[in-house]
Amino acid sequence: MDLEDLISAYKSSDNSSNGFESAFIRQVQNIKVPLKNNTENLLSAVALEGMPLHLTHETIQNYKNATIVQVLKSEELVLIPLKAKDKINGIIVADNFITKEPITKDDLRMLTMLANQAGLAIENSQLYEKTVMQANLDSLTELWNHGYFQYLLQSELEKSRIIKLPLSLIMLDIDYFKIYNDTLGHQSGDKVLKSLALLIKNQSRKMDFVCRYGGEEFAAILPQTDKKEAFLIAEHLRQDIEKHIFANEEIFPNKKLTVSLGISTFPQDGLLPAELITAADKNLYQAKHKGKNITCC
Ligand code: GH3
Ligand code: MG
Ligand code: MG
Repeated sequence: MDLEDLISAYKSSDNSSNGFESAFIRQVQNIKVPLKNNTENLLSAVALEGMPLHLTHETIQNYKNATIVQVLKSEELVLIPLKAKDKINGIIVADNFITKEPITKDDLRMLTMLANQAGLAIENSQLYEKTVMQANLDSLTELWNHGYFQYLLQSELEKSRIIKLPLSLIMLDIDYFKIYNDTLGHQSGDKVLKSLALLIKNQSRKMDFVCRYGGEEFAAILPQTDKKEAFLIAEHLRQDIEKHIFANEEIFPNKKLTVSLGISTFPQDGLLPAELITAADKNLYQAKHKGKNITCC
């Protein structure tokens, strides 16, 4: 097959809902190699040393105990590291299983060029993903930031509309936080925000999105969650926060750090992100009005 045929075979393949999946790909995916340098472990030797390795028809005999040689049962093999500057982020393994033709110096040169391009492309893609991720995170709490919260709410609402399932939004605000800050300073306040964020994140379900809405306000998007369930989750969280021991919390009027929570639910409280935020905010205001450290929905 030439490249175009390969790509169309890949695209038209319906072997699996995840795309192309051959026995060969499954076999390769199942190879797991610890990064230890020894003669049985040629992949890690190439990854650690960053040098190509050509096992010819003759020299491959010396490596017959190597895992990769046993798995692929090749008669000749090349291993070429994918390099991005001095970092190795992969290896091309090629053999002559189909052609049975000797692997030539030209083949090696071509594969090395490909490996260098691929190494850089992978590095760029990883850097890009990391940058996008960082741009969406709040630097203090490492929760999703306000901008990404807006994006998430919009896209999760769209999904809920399509699958016709509810979605709930919890807004959470620390009670009397100004007193804490004014007494101990903003740096101590920031430490509390950090540990509270960690607690909320740890208590949330995998499917939920926990965000820093602003200052000392947090928001959690709960997909596929109705108001009753969201209330139970919010109350659980409120009680866990009340029980948790935060640094110097005797400074708070009731000697404990507590939070107030407001809930809104799609579709009964609104269809649009802004409507849900307003409704949750209103309920949060109610919670404050009723004496704080409660959940209103
Ligand atoms: P309430 O119970 O009504 O919520 O009272 P509160 O004092 O918490 O008032 P409010 O919710 O308006 O909180 C605002 C205070 O939160 C102001 C400031 O002292 C503190 N704050 C807001 N953002 C930050 C932040 O990023 N870092 C720190 N350290 N403090 C913040
Ligand atoms: Mg506030
Ligand atoms: Mg507050």
